[in-house]
Amino acid sequence: MKLTEEEHWYYLNQEKGFQGELQFDVLTEKIQRDCHILNDLQLESNKSSFQLDTSLIFQDTYSLFEVKNFEGEYVYDSEYFKTLGGKDLPNPLDQIKRSKLLLSQLLKSLGSKLTVEAYVIFINPQFTLYQTPPNLPFILPTQIDRFMQKLEQKPSRLNQAHKNLADKLISLHQVEPPKIQLPTYTFESVKKGMTCCKCDSFSVTISGWKLICGECGCDELVTSAVMRNVEEFKLLFPERKITTNIIHEWCGVVDSRKRISRILGKNLKIKGVHQWTYYE
Ligand SMILES: [Zn+2]
Repeated sequence: MKLTEEEHWYYLNQEKGFQGELQFDVLTEKIQRDCHILNDLQLESNKSSFQLDTSLIFQDTYSLFEVKNFEGEYVYDSEYFKTLGGKDLPNPLDQIKRSKLLLSQLLKSLGSKLTVEAYVIFINPQFTLYQTPPNLPFILPTQIDRFMQKLEQKPSRLNQAHKNLADKLISLHQVEPPKIQLPTYTFESVKKGMTCCKCDSFSVTISGWKLICGECGCDELVTSAVMRNVEEFKLLFPERKITTNIIHEWCGVVDSRKRISRILGKNLKIKGVHQWTYYE
């Protein structure tokens, strides 16, 4: 579907934020020092919920990281990061102060004595922040390498208590869906048709067993392409039943209804009979 300009901007931001987190994950995975790495925790403390992008549990410290993939030139201000173009961003300092406080309370209630350290990682090499006070817990792109080396020097003798704490936090993780603003959509309002698994193009055609992309040339088995689209359908319309007709319409490019029905029958459980058949 066509997004409004605002929705599109929001979408790009979400996508960018996610890419930033993945980039930081690559860095934390390289850490040789013994530590427990926890990604994307959604926790609650004093009835307030908070989200931690990345947590590293070391011997004496709990280091939490908020990852920002901001790009371009900004001027520091205690409330906002200001641009010349007028697209100001909230100062993430408030966010990590809050997370740090709530996490400290939670750790205390769990009997942990770890000191909480909180940092904002600005992962994008194209980010500049003018007039940044030097004593802030900000790690700018040019400081990341040295910061990661510093983490390698932390005292790090982990014991069962650290492991138990990590397990406990994972068990407290709330799997509620993240609070993102979805544009309103209906089955009728969105474009039907399969897309390429590599480049998301709608210019795909079927040739025998394969789905072939006219943009990038990538090919995929029709069966796996249909099942990929079933997953997409389930994510977008969790309340709707999966039937041959609806998946046939959803996939668009597959001519034969029978073929869809065979693929669904092979990969899912058949429920109901005759015209009331659906799949789970
Ligand atoms: Zn493609």
